[in-house]
Amino acid sequence: MRQDSMYNISADVTMLQLNLCIWQKEQYSNRLQKSAMLPRLLWVRREIDLKQLHMTVFKHLRQVFSEWADWTHPETTRAPKAGGANLRNLIEFPYRLKEGEQMTKQQFDALSDEEAFNLCFKGVVEGDNDGKIQTSSTFNIERMAYQLEFKNSAGYYGLCKCCEKPNCRGCLVPYNDAQSSVSDLIDKFGLRRNDTLFE
Ligand SMILES: [Zn+2]
Repeated sequence: MRQDSMYNISADVTMLQLNLCIWQKEQYSNRLQKSAMLPRLLWVRREIDLKQLHMTVFKHLRQVFSEWADWTHPETTRAPKAGGANLRNLIEFPYRLKEGEQMTKQQFDALSDEEAFNLCFKGVVEGDNDGKIQTSSTFNIERMAYQLEFKNSAGYYGLCKCCEKPNCRGCLVPYNDAQSSVSDLIDKFGLRRNDTLFE
């Protein structure tokens, strides 16, 4: 009989807290600062490697890409509801199958997860994230739709448990280092869990 209280979820699964943030200009300077949106919680398998972690997060968010492509397509039929946000004002969907031609939602949805990831994250696939820490100046939306990073849980002035340096705003999750698993990272960060949401 199970003795833990992990909602009957197997012990080879762990919870990942995904903090979605957007870059915003600071009020009195041109510097970019991250502002946080609501966190999301994902269950991920501990034995997956970091490449698979990228894919797990992408699969979770893929629907947003489809909406983005749809709302910003030149021939979109989407219209904001009264009082709702006008998503037509988003920057146009930059990922292309053909040069100079914006993708439709249908074209995007027809891609496999791997094809869609390779299209939207060229920079990640080509190693832009490998061994790097996060800075606003390294972010180029045409190279990657978002930056996936491990938060420096020691704070900006503490030694980051991932890269072991101070002044780390967060280590970008590498893509081409398939050696480490989620489980290795949990050990590296020294995370002890009681396997419930509440500590
Ligand atoms: Zn770091």
